[in-house]
Amino acid sequence: MKLTKAERATLASMFVGRCAYCGDPLGGRWHADHKDPVLRGYAEPSAENPTGILHTHRDVIDNMMPSCAPCNLDKASYTLEQWRTKLEGSAASLTRYSSTYRHAFRFGLVRPVAERVTFHFERATEVQP
Ligand SMILES: [Zn+2]
Repeated sequence: MKLTKAERATLASMFVGRCAYCGDPLGGRWHADHKDPVLRGYAEPSAENPTGILHTHRDVIDNMMPSCAPCNLDKASYTLEQWRTKLEGSAASLTRYSSTYRHAFRFGLVRPVAERVTFHFERATEVQP
């Protein structure tokens, strides 16, 4: 669904102008993320659903979160828990696939700091009702 300017302003203020996931300031080019994914292009387009969105019932503002572009693009069509699991595997993935990361780790330049990902919206105290 296309949000109105007022709806976007309401969404942006949800976490005081910060990304619901990482907590970084949204800036001017933020995305309205579907917390529960809608999966574009997975359904047969029709008059009622011209974009072919699967899970059209999720395409509502109550299912949207203000997101910085990098978080929205990385979350893609993952559910929140699928994305959390993917993020939590980042250090293991870097250890396996990045020699630069392994060198930086050996020299103490990088260290994983958490085993559990907590999203900004889960710890934010400034959430509006
Ligand atoms: Zn973010």
